Amino acid sequence: MNIGQKILLLLKEEIPEIEYNRYIKHLVYDTKKSTSDTALFYAPNSLVLNWIKNKYSAKIKHLFEVHDSSNVTVKILLKNQIESKKTEQKKEQKHQHSLLNPSHTFENFMVGGSNQFAYAAVKSVSEKPGILYNPLFIHGGVGLGKTHLMQAAGNVFQNQGKIVIYTTVEQFLNDFIRHVRNKTMERFQEKYRKCDVLLIDDIQFLSNKEGIQEEFFHTFEALKGVGKQIILTADKHPKKIAGLEKRLQSRFEHGLVADIQPPELETKIAIIENKCKINKVVLTKDIISYIATVIESNVREIEGILSKLHAYSQLMHVDIDLQFTKSVLKDQLQENRANLTLDIITQNVAKDLNIKPSEIRSKGRSKNLVYARRIAIYLCRDLTQNTMPQLAQYFGMKDHTAISHTLKKINELIQNDEDFKVKIQELTNKITSSS
Ligand code: ADP
Ligand code: MG
Repeated sequence: MNIGQKILLLLKEEIPEIEYNRYIKHLVYDTKKSTSDTALFYAPNSLVLNWIKNKYSAKIKHLFEVHDSSNVTVKILLKNQIESKKTEQKKEQKHQHSLLNPSHTFENFMVGGSNQFAYAAVKSVSEKPGILYNPLFIHGGVGLGKTHLMQAAGNVFQNQGKIVIYTTVEQFLNDFIRHVRNKTMERFQEKYRKCDVLLIDDIQFLSNKEGIQEEFFHTFEALKGVGKQIILTADKHPKKIAGLEKRLQSRFEHGLVADIQPPELETKIAIIENKCKINKVVLTKDIISYIATVIESNVREIEGILSKLHAYSQLMHVDIDLQFTKSVLKDQLQENRANLTLDIITQNVAKDLNIKPSEIRSKGRSKNLVYARRIAIYLCRDLTQNTMPQLAQYFGMKDHTAISHTLKKINELIQNDEDFKVKIQELTNKITSSS
């Protein structure tokens, strides 16, 4: 028996038998490709794959630690995706920036009160690039359609034969580093300045990265100077992005800043109906409005639910009725949280507030550290099963009363400060959708 099989049998002891038979049993360990750093398993289909990834990969990793004294990354791939994954990687290397998703179109974007301003702004820019609003800056929470809208404009331009560059700040940064290393900065500059339209996603990640802000500033000026359209997105207003050079901030505000709010119930319903149509899933009105009510705002989560409903009903040969929907939704919501650890939550809070995770757990008393620590404690309590003494230990506090005091403070803030409440909701969204 190989170590992979052994670990899966050990896992069997710890989990419900039905789960083992339904999912874990079908995993195959790759003895050849697994290394001391990576344990590679194959799953027969994406349902099994996602289930195990979400629910059990952390456990599997832990079992390797305990029984094999190895610290591995657990990788699960689809059996028949091994080859296509390789070609995908090659493709990726060829294009240093991502391609546009062809289904991100204006037609597929459902408009409602929450997003009509942003929609109208992007639509008009797509009709008159470089003239009306340059740059166009769209901001809003996770999964509210920023990337979709920006790419919808990109698709229009691309169909007109224009050179469109779509990239995230992270890819832009990697590209920059690579060219610096290879001493090919002229090529980098030429590439970004030659395009007709530049779309840059998730601008908030420029925060506190001076070198790349400098380069970005020059790219921006060069393009804007010759009337090339620039569209940017971020999770917050340029003013609220900490660690962003003043000159960039003012450039970003110079065109038009449009925000997207969480969708209203009707918009959510329209989005679900549209997704059902595209994916050929049939749901009754009851079910659609149930999903729309339960999922608060993150549209990406709606998509996850639909594909899960569809996959389950096919796999288990059952119709999608309200009761079935309820059970799948419950699973999904729990699952989103099951893998969250104190570390993950702390890292997310730290990233969002631009401080180091270690600072959150330190004894530092500066105002912003205390603020970040309180938020982290609140979210850890809300999103994990850890007890107050456990939290006190993790955050280096005296005892559980310190934790309960913090929770009380945060609850008060949530009740009295609408902005803060939204901030907590958004962070929760971010954390639960990143796991
Ligand atoms: P963001 O970039 O704001 O995090 P995305 O643009 O990636 O969000 O949207 C998440 C998913 O939700 C995408 O698949 C997108 O197509 C879908 N989506 C978001 N808003 C809408 C909408 N109004 N109509 C249709 N689909 C939407
Ligand atoms: Mg996005």
